[in-house]
Amino acid sequence: MSDLLNSYKVAKFPVHLDIADKQVFIRPISHADMKPTLELIDGLKSKKRGEEGLTPQEAAQLLAAKEQIIDACIMPNSMGEKIYARNLHQADLVRLFHELKMITSGNRDNEIYFECVNENCEDKQKKRYSKKFIFQWEDCELRNKDYDETSVSFMNVDQEITFHLKPYTFDILLNNIEMFSMNKNTKLVDILDRFHASFIRSIDIGEKSYDNLSQKEIIEFLGKCSDSDLLPLMKYIGKQPMWVWEKEDWTCPHCGALNTAKIADIAGFFSI
Ligand SMILES: [Zn+2]
Repeated sequence: MSDLLNSYKVAKFPVHLDIADKQVFIRPISHADMKPTLELIDGLKSKKRGEEGLTPQEAAQLLAAKEQIIDACIMPNSMGEKIYARNLHQADLVRLFHELKMITSGNRDNEIYFECVNENCEDKQKKRYSKKFIFQWEDCELRNKDYDETSVSFMNVDQEITFHLKPYTFDILLNNIEMFSMNKNTKLVDILDRFHASFIRSIDIGEKSYDNLSQKEIIEFLGKCSDSDLLPLMKYIGKQPMWVWEKEDWTCPHCGALNTAKIADIAGFFSI
């Protein structure tokens, strides 16, 4: 029997994860063992570009497929331990996913397009004006890297309430996918408490600590809190470290609308 297939060596590439502060090795995406997942991603991506867009279930499927690909490409360390995508901080995941695409395609530069924000901006072919940029990882900056709070507190009449918090890992996004694929049928209030609850590890009320809370209990507790009580928690979420790619604002030559060119969330980086 030919040893052709066994002769191909899998290359390993190091990636430094800034938030975890460790180096991991990844291998390029190979079509041989990920074909069904890659086909699923292609199908969902073309639907996303179409008129209807994706349902929250399909958006979740797309993310789960990407998670599978990333997990398959993270190599175990010399001790046999392996890192999984869902436990990575979002900023680290963005870095790792970008590196994975670069080592797979060999492209360090990607063309990206921004559409004019003006809904009424159309040229004669009814195509909205798009501005092209060249995306290079070197232009990205890690913002809020040193933000390292692990709890937030507020006063509730005469007692202090403290939330002990989790970092913004990928599993929080996976569990709250509706937040990121909102359409006109989405009721934000229904999902916001669940999203906030995802960050809470335990709650102290005065001297008493509540561990091992179910998500349901946390959601119900948050439902009792006022918006102002939750401000420190929202600030914590907003201050989480994230990579940001940002170019100067640009003016649309067709309609004069001022547009931004910025990528600052996981969905944006994943779609490059
Ligand atoms: Zn325009």
